[in-house]
Amino acid sequence: MAITNSYLKTVYDGLVQRNPEQKEFLQAVEEVLESLQPVVEARPDIQANGVIERLVEPERVIMFRVPWVDDSGKVQVNRGYRVQFNSAIGPYKGGLRLHPSVNLSILKFLGFEQIFKNSLTTLPIGGGKGGSDFDPKGKSDMEVMRFCQSFMTELAKHIGPDTDVPAGDIGVGGREIGYMFGQYKRLQNEFTGVLTGKAIGAGGSLARTEATGYGLCYFTDEMLKDAGKSFEGKNVVISGSGNVAIYATQKATQLGGKVIALSDSNGYIYDPNGIDYKVIKEIKEVKRARIKTYLDYVPSAKYTEGCSGIWTIPCDIALPCATQNELDEESAKVLISNGCIAVAEGANMPSTPGAIAQFQKAGILFGPAKAANAGGVATSALEMSQNSARLSWSFEEVDAKLKGIMQTIYKNSSEAAKRYGMEGNLVAGANIAGFEKVANAMIWQGVSY
Ligand code: NDP
Repeated sequence: MAITNSYLKTVYDGLVQRNPEQKEFLQAVEEVLESLQPVVEARPDIQANGVIERLVEPERVIMFRVPWVDDSGKVQVNRGYRVQFNSAIGPYKGGLRLHPSVNLSILKFLGFEQIFKNSLTTLPIGGGKGGSDFDPKGKSDMEVMRFCQSFMTELAKHIGPDTDVPAGDIGVGGREIGYMFGQYKRLQNEFTGVLTGKAIGAGGSLARTEATGYGLCYFTDEMLKDAGKSFEGKNVVISGSGNVAIYATQKATQLGGKVIALSDSNGYIYDPNGIDYKVIKEIKEVKRARIKTYLDYVPSAKYTEGCSGIWTIPCDIALPCATQNELDEESAKVLISNGCIAVAEGANMPSTPGAIAQFQKAGILFGPAKAANAGGVATSALEMSQNSARLSWSFEEVDAKLKGIMQTIYKNSSEAAKRYGMEGNLVAGANIAGFEKVANAMIWQGVSY
């Protein structure tokens, strides 16, 4: 598909001219605008109110210096960001990513996607994203703490429980959230739900850690059920071995699937007998070791150097849970020819546009990230609700709400696709369902002159 609608094309061309180097951001915008064409054609109020040109421009971008001192006493400087993209339906909400690849293009792509994802959750949260090019790998705890404190010293001026509530993402787990929360509390002298992903007993929500991986499997299960299928007896390949991948492994197994492969950025493991998520949890969360270490636990498993080959393993269900653009067109063709029936994205934008086109052409089930991995942010919003009410819900209560939300996201995305004549196209359905609520709120709030 290409952007043919003249209004959308003009907006997109202008965006390319203004941000020629931001390729991830442009890729994300193009994909969304392509699927909004029937909506813009059916609703002249969208163009009349300049909704799309406002939507593609972040409300605010904050970029700042993060100086910190390493263990040898040397001053280091990283670059910090917060992209506050859209607050039409609630305070900005989205993760913080700490990874050397972080730049404005990646954070704008993630922030843009977050707008629609958050809208899809049915909860009142706007879209944002942030992070830094700091690499936590190989840093001591003290170095990570000093970095997080310095990062928050600046960020604290721009966030708040009713303004912007960041969470974790790649490289930001419970440890980093704790250091940042502590610094925010020291600076502002308040204990509020300004970050989500907090520790249990310090304002965190039960089931938040598991939420993205569990939610991904609940969504995939809905998609499979609608097609008269299920996880039962299916071979599942999951990329990555971080937060999303670990809990997707657990839930896919609970639902009757067998997870036979996982990866990290060095390589992948293949275990035809099924991978026990507890072993991966120990390797990754306790030992912080490489996935190769799995062979120490299960010597019969196979390790292959290099991560992209994971998609050559024949499977019924593929869940990419590592990073953006990790599954390209060639890998998609191999998955299809090996008989894969469903792909659902746990990571953000893991499939390239060429890969998605292949899945759609082959007619296999495809759950796009902004719908399939929305369980994490949905549960973050449930954490915000618990913080505001000074309550904490049980694991079962949160998990049940999460499951209900994922079922609703599937239903709304699938119905939106049908309404605009694209039945079965969840990419379009999720974009449309997420967009309409935000567009209506933007029109309702007017433009400031
Ligand atoms: P983590 O940092 O916990 O894990 C990322 C995992 O992916 C690590 O195992 C990492 O390996 C691996 N990885 C990175 N690059 C590659 C690669 N090129 N090929 C194979 N593996 C790779 O992050 P999360 O699990 O939290 O996030 C994963 C994805 O899910 C991201 O796209 C994130 O934006 C998205 N997401 C996360 C949510 C959450 O709640 N955590 C919510 C919604 C989306 P290594 O250790 O070697 O770097």
